[in-house]
Amino acid sequence: MKFGGTSVADAEAFERVAALVRRHEGVRPVVVVSAMSRVTDALLESVRVAGDGRALEASDALEEHFERHLEVARALLDEGVRGFFEAAVEETRREVGEALREVAAGERPRALMQDLVVSHGERLSATLLAAVLRGQGLRARYVDARLCIITDEHHGCATPLKDLTEARTREQLEPLIEAGEVPVLGGFIASSHAGETTTLGRGGSDYTAGLVGAALRAREIQIWTDVPGVLTADPRLVPEARTIPRLSYAEAAELAYFGAKVLHPKTILPAVVRNVPVRICDSRRRDAPDTLVFFDAEMTPRTVKAIACKGSIHIVHITSARMLGEHGFLRAIFEVFERHRTAVDIVTTSEVSVSLSLDDTSALEAIVEDLKPVGAVKVESNRAIVCIVGEGLRSTPGIAGRVFSTLKDINILLISQGASSINLTFVIEERHIPEVVRRLHAAFFECATAELLAHIGGSGRRET
Ligand code: ADP
Ligand code: ASP
Ligand code: MG
Repeated sequence: MKFGGTSVADAEAFERVAALVRRHEGVRPVVVVSAMSRVTDALLESVRVAGDGRALEASDALEEHFERHLEVARALLDEGVRGFFEAAVEETRREVGEALREVAAGERPRALMQDLVVSHGERLSATLLAAVLRGQGLRARYVDARLCIITDEHHGCATPLKDLTEARTREQLEPLIEAGEVPVLGGFIASSHAGETTTLGRGGSDYTAGLVGAALRAREIQIWTDVPGVLTADPRLVPEARTIPRLSYAEAAELAYFGAKVLHPKTILPAVVRNVPVRICDSRRRDAPDTLVFFDAEMTPRTVKAIACKGSIHIVHITSARMLGEHGFLRAIFEVFERHRTAVDIVTTSEVSVSLSLDDTSALEAIVEDLKPVGAVKVESNRAIVCIVGEGLRSTPGIAGRVFSTLKDINILLISQGASSINLTFVIEERHIPEVVRRLHAAFFECATAELLAHIGGSGRRET
């Protein structure tokens, strides 16, 4: 059972989580928890401020968040246990202060110090949750996730070492589970082989849950969050979005990769390998619908299951007349991206040009330099990827027609379909995201509205 930051935002939220874990006591749960909401952002900001030489200011800004933890402790813990937790907060305050002073002094690599500082968010929330659960009669025990999840040394976005992680997770957790205890781990945090603290990338607690659930061959991996499962679109863009009851692993992975923040893109990977179903549930409403992700894909009558989108995309165009009838250009281009460890999402080619989309721009300048010998390079920014997902999409006539006729007055910059049978992906200007997602949602999921609009030739935007 993984609980996200908003599911542990305050005392009330902690109580709801405790009630949920208690309800599952009989099936031997393992709990993974994120830092309390906003805490990771605050810790990252503190490292930035300390990096400017202002360590004291950086520490002071964290007080508000330490206080939020103490407030939960005052509301939910008995006096004796509370003293123990207050001492843990005091120790955290001291360690974080020390680390921030080291950041200001610039003695050790920043990325390494940053992971160490942010790890305290999950360490505190998990320690607190274990104490709250114990206070409610559960035999909960805090486990340092850094003993379970072992990664490479790519600080900030480390890759777990599969076999070692599985072995360590089992070693640490199985004896506790056998003994009837409920292990409580912080998500997102891990350690390198050399024992340095690492993290799995923003939103990485979902991934921890995937890794732990797969290692233990869990009956189910449950991602408890602030929405009723995976919805047909991001509810912040489309309030009418509805819960999708079932998704295949492939559909869920595509949606997560192309921007559905509700699942970290790598969560599904370990689950697929070990055949563990993933369920996304609402921690706020007991009777809310949820989404089950598993192998079997059902083709819904409409085929399209969801719309995802991702902003801040860049497109790189490479043009060279020398490509005409020649070979080796794609290899030369992709070698550049490989050298700079940068993933490419969409690729389109013509006789004399190649266009690619990227969202990781940390190495963009160097990439552009290295591409210059291949051809003329042009970069467009402020673009967005929109992705329509559904099993069977490729073999269903009329989907692309419907998508692009719905968007006939919007400039479409790149299109990709067919590489996977389950998605249709295209690039637009970022400023069109809300309009495009709303129109597509109306066209595919709000049928009465869609038909009506087809008759009157409207846009699907709600004039409320
Ligand atoms: P947590 O803190 O529980 O990890 P996140 O904020 O990471 O929660 O993810 C949940 C959020 O994902 C939702 O509040 C919602 O705004 C966003 N989201 C984006 N796309 C979707 C989608 N298709 N279905 C559900 N939620 C989505
Ligand atoms: N606390 C981390 C973050 O905010 C990990 C997570 O919440 O999944 O990114
Ligand atoms: Mg998340």
